[in-house]
Amino acid sequence: MQTRKQVYLDHSASTPVDPRVVEAMLPYFGEVYGNPSSTHRFGRGAERAIEDARITVADILNCQPTEVVFTSCGTESDNLAIRGAGWSACHRGEPSRLVTSPVEHSAVTNTVNQMGALMGFETAIVPVDKFGSIDSAIFAEVCERGGAVASIIYASNELGTIQDLPLLSRIAHAHDMLLHTDAVQAGGQLDLDVKRLGVDMLSLSAHKFYGPKGVGLLYVKDGVDLAPSQSGGSHEHGMRAGTHNTAFIVGMAKALELAYDENDERLPHFTKMRDQLIQGILDRLSCAELSGHPDRRLPSHASFVLHGIDANALMMHLDMVGVAASSGSACKTGNPEPSDILLGVGYSEDEAKSGLRLSVGLQTTADDISYALDVLETAVAKLNKLTREMAR
Ligand code: PLP
Repeated sequence: MQTRKQVYLDHSASTPVDPRVVEAMLPYFGEVYGNPSSTHRFGRGAERAIEDARITVADILNCQPTEVVFTSCGTESDNLAIRGAGWSACHRGEPSRLVTSPVEHSAVTNTVNQMGALMGFETAIVPVDKFGSIDSAIFAEVCERGGAVASIIYASNELGTIQDLPLLSRIAHAHDMLLHTDAVQAGGQLDLDVKRLGVDMLSLSAHKFYGPKGVGLLYVKDGVDLAPSQSGGSHEHGMRAGTHNTAFIVGMAKALELAYDENDERLPHFTKMRDQLIQGILDRLSCAELSGHPDRRLPSHASFVLHGIDANALMMHLDMVGVAASSGSACKTGNPEPSDILLGVGYSEDEAKSGLRLSVGLQTTADDISYALDVLETAVAKLNKLTREMAR
């Protein structure tokens, strides 16, 4: 189908790979192809690149290079943190309860649920307010009963809301619990200094900050006892077996470095585009309510509940006119499921089927925003008309 314009407003789902990142990766597909674990010169070249990448990442996280574990994605990092901490605590005969929130990515939620259902781990969910923020007093109450780890998302993929990690980490530590954070959406935008955040483990994924898909990392504070969930060779200090993906690890480090070098320009741009979207939608769509926190939210992230609108149908309308957006829910055509996150912050089933997430990026322009607002207004009007006609 011929479309007037293509506007990508789904950067929270994935970002394009920065050409400078592609350039940094290229030698590791051809020229430097040795296995980084091999002791000959071919292997040593690849190993050097991986260790340089580790130093680059460690500088940004303000940690030791030995505290960085490279993984295949954010999902794997979350799995390793939760399973590893739970299994280790169990093995030591210490409290192995797992604490999390209702606004986690499924990589955390489903891992915690599986640990509970299949392995008998006790689990607890800290309630959140309508914005998805955790109340520190309630968190403290839940932690009082102890446990292995609390896994709390840094910035919500669906609501954009940012949690107060320094405070939550102090509370978890006061109860001898580890604090893991899924920082996949925060990566490239928010402070990743693990000392300031106070976290024991932190997950990242490169494709959210203009790096390649299929590579991530887990920061693991020195001294944290973590049983590997992928066993085999002794790669990554024994915490994650499997031959390294040299090119992608190099690409992730380059992408992270570029993000934090350029954030003085990137973040004001994201914020400006995001605010134009939020203002425009609230001005033009009477059915729109901003979801997530109004201020403590990701610079690139705008999310809404569009009362009375079926998000699944809206996504199709927008796609047909060239706008890529997300419902924020696990919608599949013909099988619209309400968003667990919107349900988790107290929206009704119908409201949880009407989520809209728009996330801006480096290439987003004011013209893109104004086009998106126009087509959104038209699509919502069409859907409302259809609903009225069907009700007759
Ligand atoms: N955690 C959050 C908050 C995410 O948004 C995502 C991806 O959308 C993930 C984890 C999973 O990351 P990956 O796609 O690298 O597995």
